[in-house]
Amino acid sequence: MSSRILVTGGAGFIGSHLCDELLQQGHEVIVLDNFFTGRKRNLEQHLSHPQLEVIRADVTEPILLEVDEIYHLACPASPVHYQHNPIKTVKTNVLGTLHMLGLAKRVGAKFLLASTSEVYGDPQEHPQTEEYWGNVNPIGPRSCYDEGKRIAETLTENYRLEHGLDTRIVRIFNTYGPRMLFDDGRVVSNFIVQALANQPITIFGDGEQTRSFCYVSDLVRGLQSMMAVKDFSGPVNLGNPEEFTMNALAEKIIQLTGSSSKKVNRELPQDDPTRRRPDIRRAQEKLGWEPAVSVDDGLQRTILEFRERLESVES
Ligand code: NAD
Ligand code: UDP
Repeated sequence: MSSRILVTGGAGFIGSHLCDELLQQGHEVIVLDNFFTGRKRNLEQHLSHPQLEVIRADVTEPILLEVDEIYHLACPASPVHYQHNPIKTVKTNVLGTLHMLGLAKRVGAKFLLASTSEVYGDPQEHPQTEEYWGNVNPIGPRSCYDEGKRIAETLTENYRLEHGLDTRIVRIFNTYGPRMLFDDGRVVSNFIVQALANQPITIFGDGEQTRSFCYVSDLVRGLQSMMAVKDFSGPVNLGNPEEFTMNALAEKIIQLTGSSSKKVNRELPQDDPTRRRPDIRRAQEKLGWEPAVSVDDGLQRTILEFRERLESVES
């Protein structure tokens, strides 16, 4: 059955891939985005689609819409972007989530919060299960995002408990793929852009910190499974448990691009988590979900799209 679905942050990286799927499945989609890190061109193939409506608005302001489901993704995800205006990031997470929960309550919509592995901070448990409460610096440079998402989870859970809202919390681990901004600042896009230009690959710190990278199509499938599931509000980790050091990721991208780039070390940002890998047993049990795209495959697809986009910018 087709539904009317609101995707906040739908012009962004993950949101636009989610919109591709929702439109393809025949749903009516409303994108609400302030275009801070989102781009109209991420949705350009659908702009004349009769089932798509794009609204330029900010989730920090209330809005009234009639919808059946809300995927609440609006929030910059790259440290460079979310630290650009930390107070705004807090407002986006706190006021934005409050407004979207209020909307869900008013119209009886299902609500899914895109939370993050950052709620675990610099984790002292490894891999991270959903039971782990995290190790977050409340006043550090990442706190506007980490603490913002933690309170967004608190709000979501309490709307469920107090008002009986049908909510779901998803903790997304590092996700990559086509349409990431060239100047996004996140590691995969930085390394690919640098490798394709044969420029130095910037390794922050000694490069021995780890992350686990999930391809965007797997993540989107996970979001949709979570929205569809009954009697389970989460939180649930969605990510690819394959874990890499940043040195190993750089080597892999140099090899896959055939680049002559060399690695250079730069200062490690404050509070940069030392290691991160999802325990995905809950997603496997409750959603029957696990990633299907290997990191090699996903990186190859991403590199191809970056190459094409760079060429079209240059020509
Ligand atoms: P993104 O920056 O590409 O997309 C975020 C979108 O939200 C953009 O289109 C941006 O313009 C919009 N936005 C930001 N603030 C807004 C506001 N106040 N009002 C309206 N729109 C606003 O990031 P992404 O990678 O697509 O991430 C999407 C969601 O997933 C975010 O909530 C992020 O926290 C979460 N997440 C992403 C990752 C990842 O690795 N990509 C990891 C964990 C969590
Ligand atoms: N990083 C790096 N070089 C870069 C960008 C990032 O070595 O050019 C490192 C960063 O210090 C972190 C990891 O890559 O340890 C992942 O960074 P990203 O910003 O992608 O995501 P997050 O830290 O939020 O997981």
